[in-house]
Amino acid sequence: MTKYKVTYDRDGCISAAACVAVNAKWWVLDAADGRANLLNAEKNPETGLFEVIIGEGELAAMKAAAEVCPVLIIHIYNAETGEQVF
Ligand code: SF4
Repeated sequence: MTKYKVTYDRDGCISAAACVAVNAKWWVLDAADGRANLLNAEKNPETGLFEVIIGEGELAAMKAAAEVCPVLIIHIYNAETGEQVF
């Protein structure tokens, strides 16, 4: 089963909450700074982006969140091939 890597540039988040509206399972607004948090994601020290690996079953909902983000800071890659899915 294909795995996907989601990357999230949290520094660019403008707190629009669109991601939360379409995918509340993975996205929550942080009460402290109003920015979105991606569940279970860890910050990659090299890129500064938050990353998490998801399964195929999560892809559609995660893609929906990436698509509605007004500043397009959520991206999705095939974890094996590196091909960008969004
Ligand atoms: S949709 Fe984009 S800008 Fe809005 S809260 Fe989510 S990540 Fe941040």
